[in-house]
Amino acid sequence: MSDRMQIDDPVLWPYWEAAQRHELKVQRCQACGHHQHYPRPFCLECDHDALDWVAVSGRGTVHSVTTVHIQLLPELKPPYQVALIDLAEGPRLVAGITGPACAIGDAVSVVWRERDGLPPLPDFTTVA
Ligand SMILES: [Zn+2]
Repeated sequence: MSDRMQIDDPVLWPYWEAAQRHELKVQRCQACGHHQHYPRPFCLECDHDALDWVAVSGRGTVHSVTTVHIQLLPELKPPYQVALIDLAEGPRLVAGITGPACAIGDAVSVVWRERDGLPPLPDFTTVA
């Protein structure tokens, strides 16, 4: 889950700028209102190129989850979970799971994982 290439992409700067404030933002199309993630220079629904950045609730549902058992990065000690999260606003994103193991369908909420020299990453944790 290296994000160095993404951080260097100007399309993603508003995303990382918001992350510095622990604010999860996605793009919303000015023409059709579609929310999307990952960020792109145009709307995936209608191809319009006027997109706003809007804060989302940080709440979602686990669409799919897997457990990683091998060490891929020095800072991530296995085992840990990586999930596809369906945000309440619609977009789906990949994120790590912090706290108790989660299962498909679980309600989750964003928590921020601090990193040395890089913007914080949105992880998710199960909520009651
Ligand atoms: Zn659109």
